[in-house]
Amino acid sequence: MTSTSGPTPASDVPTTFRLFIAGAWVDGVAGETFESLNPADRRDVIGRFQAGSAADTAMAIKAAETAFPSWRATPAPKRGEIMYRFAELMGRHKERLARAMTREMGKVIAEARGDVQEGIDIAYLMAGEGRRMFGDTVPSELPDKWAMSIRQPIGVAGIITPWNFPMAIPCWKMMPALVTGNTVVFKPSSDTPHCATLLVELMAEAGFPPGTVNLVTGSGEAVGNTIVDSPDVPVISFTGSSATGKSIAERAGRRLKRVSLELGGKNGVVVLRDADLELATDGILWSAFGTTGQRCTACSRVIVERAVADDLVKRLADRAKTLKLGYGLDAGVDVGPLINPGAVEKVGRYVEIGRGEGELVIGGTAAGDAALAHGNFFSPTIFSGIKPMDRIGQEEIFGPVLSVIPVDDFDAAITALNQTRYGLSASIFTRDVNTAFRAMRDFEAGIVYVNAGTTGAETHLPFGGWKETGNGHREAGHAAIETYTEWKSIYVDFSGRLQRAQIDNQ
Ligand code: NAP
Repeated sequence: MTSTSGPTPASDVPTTFRLFIAGAWVDGVAGETFESLNPADRRDVIGRFQAGSAADTAMAIKAAETAFPSWRATPAPKRGEIMYRFAELMGRHKERLARAMTREMGKVIAEARGDVQEGIDIAYLMAGEGRRMFGDTVPSELPDKWAMSIRQPIGVAGIITPWNFPMAIPCWKMMPALVTGNTVVFKPSSDTPHCATLLVELMAEAGFPPGTVNLVTGSGEAVGNTIVDSPDVPVISFTGSSATGKSIAERAGRRLKRVSLELGGKNGVVVLRDADLELATDGILWSAFGTTGQRCTACSRVIVERAVADDLVKRLADRAKTLKLGYGLDAGVDVGPLINPGAVEKVGRYVEIGRGEGELVIGGTAAGDAALAHGNFFSPTIFSGIKPMDRIGQEEIFGPVLSVIPVDDFDAAITALNQTRYGLSASIFTRDVNTAFRAMRDFEAGIVYVNAGTTGAETHLPFGGWKETGNGHREAGHAAIETYTEWKSIYVDFSGRLQRAQIDNQ
């Protein structure tokens, strides 16, 4: 069964979904497809999706190139109006989108609603940007001369996204790209093509003109590489693993493309002896085991003053024991599955490494419950007595594994927190305002929380990380539009004579 885009029918035969190129839903030229499965129950096939090829991707790039001149010429407030309509549509369909997300990606329904809401929030923020997009108008150093700067779009933006925020992250990228006048070729993760399709359906309904938004599902190799290597895609925005990000940066670097990278993390929470331990326990559990530890901002290291380490570990373990694993649409479930069997295997490998480095306090196994046997479940896991440079405390696991690292004092805590090659998110629990300000100043991270966990970014501030978490670009906030615009500085001389800057004004 094939649908136009298409909606999930009430049938046992999985729907076959299509690519979206130049405003039309089309089959891939090779006619090959792949399945998307429910990670909570792999017997549930969500649909079949086109395994897009280099030829399909080239067509999508051509469509985006063709649409660019008229989209660029569309007044930015008008582009914003279409984005407002998209935000409204997302709001109207929020529950349907969230439920589809839980089915395909696994996060529990409350978190899936939050993911959709992030998409809505960034769409509204960027729609407003259509009436701002500020440049500078400054006094000239010469008389009768005007000096100003404006932003202009770059061209076709290649948008390559992961599965863990399957609606929020594509929106974080596509909204600033589109409102600033770029057109888009969107390649979603092969684990969440249905979420991407639902999003693009609503974009089409909102009225983005044909060719401004193109969706090509398929592998990183066939679709991703073609986008990255194309001379007709001058800007790439990628979120995913550090390994893929580095290879994209190398290849795109050969063509001097602009590349925005949002990569891995190993986010730490510092807990000092004066902290409210109950609040810290709440914040850590939410950050470590929410989305089954698969957030880029997930907390996977707790750096705790030795004086309160045992107390904190006990509280964490007691509470972690009560978390209910299961299908995210079922009532009372706290923790959903991992994204795929490969992730279960990877988390299991790290647990083995952890056994040799510290003490396993709780968890450590794929969930054995017969009811969960067809899903990719792994129980919330805590290790204590980990040293700052142990592998389990250093490498990104991307699963529900928390390492507790005891230290002597605040100075040692700052050193340990900063001793990672990543720098996305960090937090501190303390009641001392002076210590909190030192942490805000000295933590090497793009996002810092005080008396909250490591997750919970809002869309109107810049989002991104230091060190190997990225390459200096930011998503969200006004900062997001930097990635998708070129600056143009303009001088208008209305003196009627030759005036030479730096010479005639001496
Ligand atoms: P991934 O394996 O790197 O994949 C990300 C995307 O890149 C997918 O669409 C993938 O396609 C594509 N891809 C793979 N190989 C490619 C290639 N050679 N050229 C172009 N594209 C290619 O990452 P993931 O497992 O989906 O996501 C998890 C990672 O994302 C974690 O490391 C996490 O920390 C990071 N993340 C970071 C942030 C942040 O803001 N810093 C936010 C969320 C997630 P296929 O799916 O078809 O392979």
